[in-house]
Amino acid sequence: MRKPIIVGNWKMQLGPNEALKLASGLRKNAKSMPLKKVDVVVCPEFVTITDIMDELEKLDIYVGAQDCDSEYKGARTGEVSAKSLWEIGCEYVIIGHSERRALGETDKEVNAKLNAALAVNLLPIVCVGESQEERNNGSAEVVVARQVTDALKNIHLGPDKELVIAYEPIWAIGTGKTVEPDEANHMCQVIRQTLLDAADGNDSYIKKDQLEKIRTIYGGSANNKNAASFLEQEAVDGLLPGGASLKVDSFTKMVQAAGEIV
Ligand code: PEP
Repeated sequence: MRKPIIVGNWKMQLGPNEALKLASGLRKNAKSMPLKKVDVVVCPEFVTITDIMDELEKLDIYVGAQDCDSEYKGARTGEVSAKSLWEIGCEYVIIGHSERRALGETDKEVNAKLNAALAVNLLPIVCVGESQEERNNGSAEVVVARQVTDALKNIHLGPDKELVIAYEPIWAIGTGKTVEPDEANHMCQVIRQTLLDAADGNDSYIKKDQLEKIRTIYGGSANNKNAASFLEQEAVDGLLPGGASLKVDSFTKMVQAAGEIV
């Protein structure tokens, strides 16, 4: 069984003070979280990352970023490199969130960012997912498989590297709507099958025996009430909550739910 992971995406929802307050609440709750059994990650805004790291210091709660640039360095005003994130102690980075794709990020850029993140040993959380229209017209599987294939094109996943792929149907993000848990499971299986089909192939440097190190998780209005129903699915290795990660209690309960399935 793959180790469960819960990733809180704080988006741009909290100012520095609120973010610190949330982190301090998590610190207080840490003893009630099964942190040895579950990987727990919070992703604040860039500007608060180091403060949140200080607040969570010595706890097994990791801090990640919500995005990174695809280039190592350069004249790229406003961007933040994967290397800088790694240098300040970030361990994870979300890549290709649909809210960034909606701003114009392409599959090609997602692929380049994934490469950049892996090059500096950040653990990437790559987001994929279909729109409402694509779900309605029956193309969800094809869209998600294509996003996975494009994101991983020519990616070299060394033996010491890990990867998380988050299935996040766009229509379920921030809407209170979710897919049925068995459908989340099915879509995570589609992702796993896509990885398996590509493994050991010409365009992919992922070896079949590494596939167990790739976790597939669900995001889209996940919360403490529905967490267990997703987490008990065989191919759902964790959750990526947005709104529900902004409250200490709901996030703590989601981590506890993940601990119970191990
Ligand atoms: C997200 O931020 O990726 C997300 C799934 O948000 P929410 O849980 O609020 O739908």
